[in-house]
Amino acid sequence: MGFFDKLGDSIVSVSKDVGQKAKDVSGITKLKLDIRMKQDYLKEQYAYLGKAYYEAHKNEDVSEKQRFEKISEALDEINRMELQILELKKARKCPNCGTEVSDTAEFCSNCGAKLGVVVGEAKAQDSSGGEDSESMEDEQPEENSEYL
Ligand SMILES: [Zn+2]
Repeated sequence: MGFFDKLGDSIVSVSKDVGQKAKDVSGITKLKLDIRMKQDYLKEQYAYLGKAYYEAHKNEDVSEKQRFEKISEALDEINRMELQILELKKARKCPNCGTEVSDTAEFCSNCGAKLGVVVGEAKAQDSSGGEDSESMEDEQPEENSEYL
């Protein structure tokens, strides 16, 4: 949006004196666009590096361990919420290729894998045991005031 707003402003100012200035403006516009594309590229690379670093070090016994655990928790939460969305949409993911398929579909529409029948909510729970449906009730009352 901001880009096109600026582009519109540029067009207005150019209409006063056309000519070399128009070339300058279009040059600037192109440069800005190129910069934006490079910045998007860098953002992707940073995200990739960050994830690769996380994957490489998540099991290490280092001081960042806690940070990684937080990331793992966030990933688990995202996974849970995605499963909630799928449940609300009466859909699920193919265990073979991950494609979203109907809850009632017998075969994956993408890879053709046999999907079988969903049994209860077993898919949403881990084998970690215990009732973790209410994870709000932690047994250790930490003094994490940063969350309050
Ligand atoms: Zn599939």
